[in-house]
Amino acid sequence: MVTKLKSTFNSHNPVTGEVVGTYPIMGKEEVFVCVSHARTASSKWHALGFNARKKILLQWSALIIKEIDTIAQLISLETGKPVGDAKLEVTIAVSHIGWAARHGESVMRTSFRRPGLLMSNMSATVERSPMGVIGVIGPWNYPIFTPMGSISYALAAGNTVVFKPSEFTPGVGKWLEDVFNEVAPFADIFTTITGLGETGGALCISDIDKLSFTGSTRTAKLVAAQCASVMTPVILECGGKDPVIVAADADIKRAVDATMWSAMANAGQSCIGAERVYVHEKIADDFIARAIALAATIHAGAPGNGDYGPATMPSQIEVIASHIKAAIADGGTCVYGGPLSVKAPFVEPVILIDVPEDSIAMREETFGPIIIINRVASMSNAVKLSNESNYGLGANVWSRRKGKKIASQLTCGMVAINSTFAFAAIASLPFGGVKDSGSGRVHGPEGLLEYTFARTVVRTRFNLPLHLLSFSRRPREVALVIKLTKFLKGRLG
Ligand code: NAD
Repeated sequence: MVTKLKSTFNSHNPVTGEVVGTYPIMGKEEVFVCVSHARTASSKWHALGFNARKKILLQWSALIIKEIDTIAQLISLETGKPVGDAKLEVTIAVSHIGWAARHGESVMRTSFRRPGLLMSNMSATVERSPMGVIGVIGPWNYPIFTPMGSISYALAAGNTVVFKPSEFTPGVGKWLEDVFNEVAPFADIFTTITGLGETGGALCISDIDKLSFTGSTRTAKLVAAQCASVMTPVILECGGKDPVIVAADADIKRAVDATMWSAMANAGQSCIGAERVYVHEKIADDFIARAIALAATIHAGAPGNGDYGPATMPSQIEVIASHIKAAIADGGTCVYGGPLSVKAPFVEPVILIDVPEDSIAMREETFGPIIIINRVASMSNAVKLSNESNYGLGANVWSRRKGKKIASQLTCGMVAINSTFAFAAIASLPFGGVKDSGSGRVHGPEGLLEYTFARTVVRTRFNLPLHLLSFSRRPREVALVIKLTKFLKGRLG
């Protein structure tokens, strides 16, 4: 099907550096061919209808969960994360397939709108149709969960999908395609293309109807620019610098436990991972002491040997080390670990306190097992500092009584009160950010509707004795409308 492969690339085990697999680097021509096949398949996939698609998607999710040991092993091999973490990731990914499959029809049901007084003879409806072919570009940190938030919703809506996984986790991407093809009624419904950034770039300018990107803000800007050049709409799910706000009335034990997990799990490589904590000064010493005690029980290591694994992407080690150094140089203090905690490919937990807000360590995504804890005198200051970031992905708030009030003031896409990460595992909730964290949503009804277009349909139910949309309109008809509008003070809608 695909001809003229230019060259190949390897995926590696980030712990040992050993080659895990070799994959083709697909060029523009190959990508365009895959998209063209997906285009041909899209009308057939749409025509199958919701029920048939639901059955196929549920068979796919059943197969994935049946093979959970195999896929979790592969995720662990390509990312270095513990197999248990990989298994949890698979179960959450599968729950998204199930939700999208079961709710596609109701989310896309035609909605009826009130036509208003002047158009009361019309029926006013909004229909939803799949867009056609959706391109998905994914990251490596959650190589099945993250792209599945786009892939399964796009498929459930009736689109075909061409997926470009990260070059660090191509094996997981290919495995997903292979397993889908075991249940697919025909070819080219879900295609995985492999390659580096250029392959993703080719997908952006190919004949797709929308591009769903998850990855860094830096790449998102390139993706958005490439898509703009061909007028392809985009969803951008990018990085974050998620704050944790801890009020004086927080359950400190739970707040510390969840925050340390949020910051350190997956070696800190979570877009919604805690990166900075604003803790009320009244409880700050207690919070910091408990965080240090917990950090001492957490260790990096190869799968089977650590609470979390290595930095999956070797170049991230430099970023992490530079943020620790910058935080110290700018006046912060290491209260647990420090520059020597970076032992590539691993990074042991690091806790920094009192780091100035203008330090790069407070402003840029670190994506490592580092947490910065700053004291604040009030919750309004915590909110202000949280919102001053260029990012706006998620946030956590810990308070027994003021959680909702604090949450409502945050400029970000998702907030967990007295919890962390939970919104990502609730399939009915939209997931996404604001500002440099991106635009558009995945998951839930909002995420599913991203892969549809709205078709407004109006229909004459009966004829009115008014001829407003006609050259036969008489002046007294216009006068009547103006009189009515004045009488109703504009409330005609
Ligand atoms: P990345 O931006 O380096 O790469 C993401 C994908 O983009 C890869 O598949 C890559 O091959 C592709 N790509 C690179 N250059 C491209 C180009 N010019 N055109 C098109 N595609 C191109 O990101 P990463 O390192 O894989 O992932 C980590 C980042 O992802 C972090 O910033 C993290 O916060 C973010 N992330 C966000 C979410 C979210 O939902 N908001 C979820 C997971 C990860």
